Formats: sequence, structure tokens, C-alpha cells
Amino acid sequence: MDTLAINGGKKAVPDKLIKVWPPIGALDRKLVLASLNGHEHSFGPNCRAFEKEFAAWNGNQFAINTNSGTAALHMSLAACGLSAGDHVLVTAYSWSSSATCILHHNCIPVFVDIDFATINIDVRKIEAAITSKTRAIIVVHLHGLAVNMDQVLRIARKHKLLVIEDACQAHGALYKNKKVGTFGDCAAFSFNQNKCLCSGEGGMFVTDNPDMFQKAKQLWSFGETRAPGQARDYHAYALGWMYRSSDLVAAFGRAQLARLDYYFKTQRENAALLLAELKGTPGLILPVEPAGHTHNWYNFTSRIDLSAAGWNGQPERFRDAVMKALQAEGVPANVWQSFILPAMTVFRARNAYGGGCPWTCHQTRPVEYDPAKFPVAQRHCATHFGMTTPLRAPNGRAAVNTIARGFKKVFAQLDRLDVEKILSLKKS
Ligand SMILES: *Cc1c(COP(=O)(O)O)cnc(C)c1O
Repeated sequence: MDTLAINGGKKAVPDKLIKVWPPIGALDRKLVLASLNGHEHSFGPNCRAFEKEFAAWNGNQFAINTNSGTAALHMSLAACGLSAGDHVLVTAYSWSSSATCILHHNCIPVFVDIDFATINIDVRKIEAAITSKTRAIIVVHLHGLAVNMDQVLRIARKHKLLVIEDACQAHGALYKNKKVGTFGDCAAFSFNQNKCLCSGEGGMFVTDNPDMFQKAKQLWSFGETRAPGQARDYHAYALGWMYRSSDLVAAFGRAQLARLDYYFKTQRENAALLLAELKGTPGLILPVEPAGHTHNWYNFTSRIDLSAAGWNGQPERFRDAVMKALQAEGVPANVWQSFILPAMTVFRARNAYGGGCPWTCHQTRPVEYDPAKFPVAQRHCATHFGMTTPLRAPNGRAAVNTIARGFKKVFAQLDRLDVEKILSLKKS
């Protein structure tokens, strides 16, 4: 058996084999340069065109181009007309913004544990978390796998809840052949560096509801009702932030959007190949794609089966050692989130705005943030590792096959990992 790279052997994945994300081509250069040579550098013609093109691509009536996915999420809370102190349901495991956006609108996050197989909110546990103060639910299509929207919409209708989709990782992902961001009342996308559509930073708010569109737009730009380019009256009608994007960024985003379907297809082909290569690897729990779901494979997230690996110690220690062994082979695996949301200080301190707000300055029922109440999210968090770039265009069969070789090499020798020694090694 080949000696593991972490034990001094040869790397499975040669340097520079995996191409960086995102690919930059002639169209990116053309559109960005044209924007630079233009004269509208703030919210200009590319921003307006990007909104139109993205709305058409995703199948939404309205889109607002923002400077981040987090901004688009905050706008979603305002668009839903939520009030200070309202309870909003959200998954216990995601990026922090999926829940801090609730605080941004002075509402109170109520967490729901995840389903281990899909890593998404456990739809069977949603109803138990509903209180008399619950007004909305944020569903996060995590890692590019859609939440079971039939179940979510059924519960939402029954309890009169508004539905916000955090689609920041899920561009192009489908549920029953329909794109995410078209199920809920409104949705947020991110165009940050690592996302499936990258414009450096950036985001998009989408909705089909004209009233929500207006409310989101006010919060987006100083509380005004008219966007730049229209006859502004420079009057703040509502509480507003400054969440607009710039023309250069939108030019980059438009060029990437033109290739998004090709990116999506490539990611799906690469993920299918990797899944086929790794199927049956002892100790490795592979990601799933349940019937009716079309994954975009934003993040290929696996878990380590600790009992199969014969590990009885602290889960994170074994996972971290395996990850270091994979990285030594040249596999760009990483821990994505090492804390579940209820364990984050911003929630546990219950003092986002000072004076205990929003938790104790409103008449509200106490909410539970004890991490022990979210055992499935904890278990996932402690044993997972993810991977993005090798599955992204222009990487193909050659990159995926070498990555698979790296995985198989490490997982065939889990018993040869000296966990204590690996964890004591300095970062190179
Ligand atoms: C990236 C991300 C966000 C935030 O997007 P930004 O553009 O970085 O603000 C929100 N939710 C999820 C699930 C994300 O992955």
C-alpha cells in the first residue's frame, strides 16, 4: 500500500492539477472593461441588466442586486413585514448569516435541528418549534441541496408562516424540477468568491410579490422608494441601509451568469463521477441526493463513520486528523463550519442590540439555545468535511479521478493515522 503523504509518502494529487475558481474568460474581461470605460460606476446599467438577466434565469418576477447575500437576507425579513420580537424558525446548522439576518430585523431566531442524511432542516421537527410568536421560516438549501419544499409549504400554509429561502449556496438546484428561490415568498442568493456564481462579493434578492419587492427596495437603498436611474426624491420613507452593488461587480456577475448552466452541468457530472468512485469506501459517509432533488453540488460534504473507523475518542480530533491526511495528499478538503448556530456567542449572549434586545425587550417566550438540544447538528458538525473547487469547472475527469485516489488512499489506512502526532504538527 502507498505510504500516506502525511507519513512521508508521495502526494496523490499533483500540485496545480486542480484549477482555481472561478474561470475567467474573454467575456468577463470584455464586460468589466466596458464598465470601467463607461461613466456610471455606482448602481449602473450592468446592475440593472444583471437584475433582469438573473430574474429571467431563475424564473422570478423581481430581482434586486445587492452587495452581499447577507444584505439580501436582511431585505427578505423586511420584505415579509416582520416586526421586532417576532419568532423566525431557522436550521441549527448553516452559515451565521442565515440566522443573524433575523437579528438584523430585531426578530428572534428559533432553531430547528437538522436531518442527518440531507444536512438540511429536519422538516419533521419544524411544527414542534412553532410558538404563538412565530411568523416566518427561513429554509437554507445547504450545500446546494434543496429542502423538501412540499413539506415546508404545507406547514407554512397550515400555520400561516411566511417562507424565506436562503439560496446563497443553491444557484440552479432543483426541487421537483423547479429552481430554488421560486418556492417561498422571497429568496436570497450570494455571489461571494466561493459561490457557484462569483462576482467577488455580491448578492440578489428575488420575489414574485410586488409589495415585497417595494419593501425590500426601501431597505436596500436609504429607505427611498425610487432606485438610482429613476427620478429620485431623496426622501427616506422607511428605515434603510445601503446594500447596493457597483457596476464593475455587476459586469463580472453578468459574464459569470452567462456560463452558469455550463458550470452547473460540470459540477453535476464531476459529482456523479466522484460518488461512483467512492461508493462503498469503508468509514466514509457520502452525500445524498434524494428522489425529487437535483443537487448543484456547491459543496461535496462527507462525514466520517467513527464506529466503522474504530475511533472512540473525541469525534473532532479524528476528523481533523483525517482532514490533515487528505490535505497532505493534495485533496482540498476543509471543515466548513465548526460551530452549530445555537452554540455561537452572538445568540448565546442574547444581547445583539444592547439592553437584551431583541430577546428580553419584547414580550416573548424564552427560546432554547442549549447546543445539547440539537444533537444531530452537533454530530454532523463534529464529523464532517467538505470540498468545493475540484468539482467546479473547468475541472473534469482527470481532477476528479485523482481526488478519488486521494480519498481512497487515506480511507484505506485510517488505522495507520497517528491522530495525536498529526494534530501536533505545525501548519505548513
Ligand atoms: C454565503 C452564505 C450567506 C451569506 O452570503 P454573503 O454574500 O457572504 O453575505 C448566507 N447564507 C449561506 C447559506 C451562505 O452560504
